[in-house]
Amino acid sequence: MAARLVYLDNNATTQLDPAFLDLMRPYWQEQYFNPSSHYQEALPVKKAIDQARKDILTALGDPQGQVYFTCNATDSNNWIIRQSLKNALAVCQGGRNQVITSAVEHPSILNLVAQLEKEGFAVVRLPVNEQGEINPADLINALSPQTAIVSIMHANNETGVIFPITKLAQIVKDFDPTIIFHSDITQTLGKLPLDLADPAWHNVDALSFSGHKIYAPKGIGVLYARQNLFLHPMIIGGHQEAGKRGGTENTPYIIALAAAVKKAAREAPLAEKRYRPWQKALEDFVTQNIPQVRINGQKANRLPGTSSISFAGIEGESIVYLLSQKGICASTGSACSSDSLLPSPVLEAMQVPFTFAHGTIRFSWGRFNQEDDLKILQAQLPGVIQELCHLSPFWSESKQDLHWAKINELNDQH
Ligand code: PMP
Repeated sequence: MAARLVYLDNNATTQLDPAFLDLMRPYWQEQYFNPSSHYQEALPVKKAIDQARKDILTALGDPQGQVYFTCNATDSNNWIIRQSLKNALAVCQGGRNQVITSAVEHPSILNLVAQLEKEGFAVVRLPVNEQGEINPADLINALSPQTAIVSIMHANNETGVIFPITKLAQIVKDFDPTIIFHSDITQTLGKLPLDLADPAWHNVDALSFSGHKIYAPKGIGVLYARQNLFLHPMIIGGHQEAGKRGGTENTPYIIALAAAVKKAAREAPLAEKRYRPWQKALEDFVTQNIPQVRINGQKANRLPGTSSISFAGIEGESIVYLLSQKGICASTGSACSSDSLLPSPVLEAMQVPFTFAHGTIRFSWGRFNQEDDLKILQAQLPGVIQELCHLSPFWSESKQDLHWAKINELNDQH
């Protein structure tokens, strides 16, 4: 029998929850009708979509809010930022044109704002310190009468560092309540409790997330907005999604997503207890058994179950390759940038030295991990690292120490 795969890349995507597959099946088969059709058979399909929308809003804690189904978090992030700017430019007499975000957002925001800059919009990227944290004073300094939207993720996908979203939203609204505050909560749903009914969250206007990070299929996401938030349409077409995003609804995926959000809301309070011990045990093990490692963001408030670990003087891609030969899946930084050999912008923003940034691996735990997974990883990882140190020109013959002169020279070049 083939050995069980040890999947430690749950921040990249999650395995579909088999229970959701069962929920989806009827909507591909006997309930395949277009929810907009008017014959009797189609009515339950429309009802199921309406119910899914309500269930998501209830699970988020804001039954009066708006939920728009999108393809994924990338889609939702693009929608809210582009359309808020459009609104601000058109509606506000001053023609606001500034976006404030952080230097460590997902590429669906970083690359979007780079494009917006080319189109003439003003962009501020808040820096982070060496632990990956944002200083709220930088936000206060960045806000201006030109600010249209502030978008800060709830937790970083590579390091798991959590940002004080409610505090940052309060700063924004104290400055000017008409500025939109948006957060990408893709990595926190199901891992951190979230209740939009809590007054602390009242200053947050909009949220984005993807189904496939919470055990629903890939290809479905949500843009949530408060009841009164005006959104320009994203896709012009039919009347679907209140006329803001035309196209026949993907009923099976919507049904699975609603079940996934409900389950994530139930599981979030348990995540700390379940994932923190694995994360801590792994980080303690690595620190005690492998020389010259660095846990990125270790002193910051972090998600339970995300570890970004840098191994000096070796290549992250090689670590991933050798681990995968042992049946262990992990990633170099974020999956979205792992097809480029450039150092991750997140680690760069945290000023992780080049020779560490290149040897960085993210391990992320999820619902289907088992106690054994940690033991298997602990059994394999030191050997993998040692093998690569033997090939590395940056390690001494004994493999106990780095050639610091070589390391420093390379770091200075970058
Ligand atoms: N935001 C964050 C924080 C993410 O981690 C991801 C996925 N890596 C995304 C957005 C994009 O999600 P998707 O690829 O489903 O659009």
